[in-house]
Amino acid sequence: MSNEVWRGSTLGSHSFESESNVVYAERTQAVFRCANGHLTEVTFAHDAELPEVWACRNCPLDAKPFDVNSPTPPAEESSRVGRSHWQMLLERRTTEELEEILQEQLTLLRERRARGQVEF
Ligand SMILES: [Zn+2]
Repeated sequence: MSNEVWRGSTLGSHSFESESNVVYAERTQAVFRCANGHLTEVTFAHDAELPEVWACRNCPLDAKPFDVNSPTPPAEESSRVGRSHWQMLLERRTTEELEEILQEQLTLLRERRARGQVEF
């Protein structure tokens, strides 16, 4: 049997009734985790070689394979340590919002300075 015939018969033989079984039998769910602690779930064919690095879906960082069944998952505390204040800030605010806040604060500062309330 040639490869082509085999592939065609595989596709044709799957009915919707057995689809859930097929998914569990032939797919692997991999989880990747970036330095910001975002988890990205990716489904691979069970025989596919898992990549070492996957692009995080939530930020521009690269995510590394993360074993969700690991007996010693990283504590919440340690995952926070890896994040800078800036990264945590960016999770709550967009750069545009931060820019706006900065301009607002600068305006206030200049006003106070003009009134002689600030020494610098
Ligand atoms: Zn991320």
